[in-house]
Amino acid sequence: MELAARLKPIKPSATLAISAKAKEMKAQGIDVVSLSAGEPDFPTPEHICEAAIKAIRDGHHGYTAADGMPELKEAVIRKYRRDSGLDYTPAQVVATCGGKHAIYSLAQATLGPGDEVIIPAPYWVSYPPIVMLAGATPVIVQTDRGSGFKMSPDQLREALSDRTKAIIINSPSNPTGGIYTKEELAALAEAAFERDVLIWTDDIYEKLVFEGQQFHTVAALKPEYKDRVVILNGVAKTYAMTGWRIGFLTGPENVARAVAKIQSQSTSNPCTPAQFAAVAALDGTQEPVEEMRRAFDRRRLLIMELLGKLNVTVDPPLGAFYVFPDFSAYLGGRIKDSAGLCAYLLDQAKVASVPGVAFGSEGYVRFSYATSDENIEEAVARLEKSLANLG
Ligand code: GLU
Repeated sequence: MELAARLKPIKPSATLAISAKAKEMKAQGIDVVSLSAGEPDFPTPEHICEAAIKAIRDGHHGYTAADGMPELKEAVIRKYRRDSGLDYTPAQVVATCGGKHAIYSLAQATLGPGDEVIIPAPYWVSYPPIVMLAGATPVIVQTDRGSGFKMSPDQLREALSDRTKAIIINSPSNPTGGIYTKEELAALAEAAFERDVLIWTDDIYEKLVFEGQQFHTVAALKPEYKDRVVILNGVAKTYAMTGWRIGFLTGPENVARAVAKIQSQSTSNPCTPAQFAAVAALDGTQEPVEEMRRAFDRRRLLIMELLGKLNVTVDPPLGAFYVFPDFSAYLGGRIKDSAGLCAYLLDQAKVASVPGVAFGSEGYVRFSYATSDENIEEAVARLEKSLANLG
């Protein structure tokens, strides 16, 4: 049987595929150190787990509203009031089955054939496939180390066309850890809103910022932006809740209602006990968030220091939990590209990493430092040894 034609250009998520491969190798008894998965290695904080257990014990086993239970929507509304001074109504909020599904449903709700979405590269691996699965065309804007991997307003203006429906901003960025300043975001928004487009801002790493950096969401820069920006977010990265699958989307009411409609015809509500857990995460103490952030910061400095032993160039990431070094000094000889290099490193060093090509930037490799100090030390020591064999 022929599968759907729209699936032909789509590959499985590289981040998930490589993480799964590393897990499979570990299960076979192979001593793999994985710096591939972008997920906190901490357990979900206790009070959040307790809220889910209580929900189960209290009999919350059934469906909730398809777009999320009112208590969770209210917790999301409080979060944005508190953190960003944004005031949303419940009709402008949708709780989704993870941050990725918020993006997927948003694409399904707003895009179709002929539409274009501007995506700065390096980008998170799933943005282009999500756009393509909605029948639309990703328009990639290549950025480089020189600009901190940030798209300039001029680059954006050049990429905008009558077909542009949306622009994706992800700050802090996966995979580079780059953060747009308030001024940079304002300049991008100004360029974007010369046309009738939506900005999609993926704010999933908003709490993971270092070196005194300030996170800003473009939605909060001007009162009128709230109706032109969709914020994509979730509990996964902030509260070490990747497996709970709770995301949330906030934005113009007609967009949120369209996403809710899709959800009512596809997933129904996100897992009910997980929604209770998300309420506890958003409303409860934020102390564990700061503790985890400090641990990531320490590991960030550690991996930066250790990478100094390799022939790579990399600037300190200011957010998220990834480093994205330029490995081009090792390419062009025996190993041609980042995919070949990551395959070699997995095979020889037993270190799992994600090739830059999956993020639209050849020559780079992404390492997640959301893992223990020991793993980071061991991984870089192995890399050093295996890369020496290449030279
Ligand atoms: N966002 C994380 C990553 O980039 C999790 C895996 C995924 O969904 O891509 O590794």
